[in-house]
Amino acid sequence: AIRFQDVEKRFGDNVVLKDLNFEVSKGDRVTLIGPSGSGKTTILRLVMTLEKATGGYIHINGEPLTHELRGGKRVERSEKAQKQIRKRIGMVFQQFNLFPNMTVLENIIEAPVHVLGQSKEQATRRAMELLESVGLPNKAKAHPLQLSGGQQQRVAIARALAMDPEILLLDEVTSALDPEIVGEVLAILRRIADTTDITMLIVTHEMQFARDVSNRVLMFDGGRIVEEATPDVMFTEPKHERTQAFLHAVL
Ligand code: ATP
Repeated sequence: AIRFQDVEKRFGDNVVLKDLNFEVSKGDRVTLIGPSGSGKTTILRLVMTLEKATGGYIHINGEPLTHELRGGKRVERSEKAQKQIRKRIGMVFQQFNLFPNMTVLENIIEAPVHVLGQSKEQATRRAMELLESVGLPNKAKAHPLQLSGGQQQRVAIARALAMDPEILLLDEVTSALDPEIVGEVLAILRRIADTTDITMLIVTHEMQFARDVSNRVLMFDGGRIVEEATPDVMFTEPKHERTQAFLHAVL
């Protein structure tokens, strides 16, 4: 579970998120929608601790992520504590973010070996299973730049799953792909959604995917949630005029 409590994120004078409160239960699939610049990616980056909130608290399964209230004061947790909790969270990025100088296999086993302390053999066995499951059993020795965008993204998904995350963050994972291969990446994600209880927080412009996979949709505008609904309701009878205008523009 993920809980945002009065979260604020500022970049200098630019207040990107203000007084943000929401909860994601274990096993939930929540899609964040909203116009460009509304703060969706920033929310994922906060959960991944790639950014730190400038106010408020984020809890993962009841445990503070980066900051906690101690003696009436908001204080940052130790790097060690943050690292411990970060292990349970995986992220897939728009631009894949694979390590270009490592093979596909090395990309996948890097964190299981160095962060979780798995043996190389154990991590390799699991990596090969995951490569099989994303349809790339013969690419273990390839380098990322020898692969197509869709193949790189499938490796990135395998790499995130190799950590057995409780929470998977998906940040516009099909936006950099050619239209004809978007479907194969979405099919893999849909299967993960159907066969695991991984909590998912999804930012996407693929409204059909959002509809298929998520059980809740949050509409953001100007760093705030303006509407929250099930996908059926959000995509057919949105109530807020900002949501209506946004969906009218993208659907
Ligand atoms: P998009 O759909 O275009 O990705 P988004 O809703 O995901 O938009 P964010 O990427 O979260 O929006 O950005 C929200 C705001 O935060 C933008 O105004 C952006 O310029 C600003 N921002 C994000 N990251 C940084 C940063 N590292 N430094 C300064 N400003 C930033």
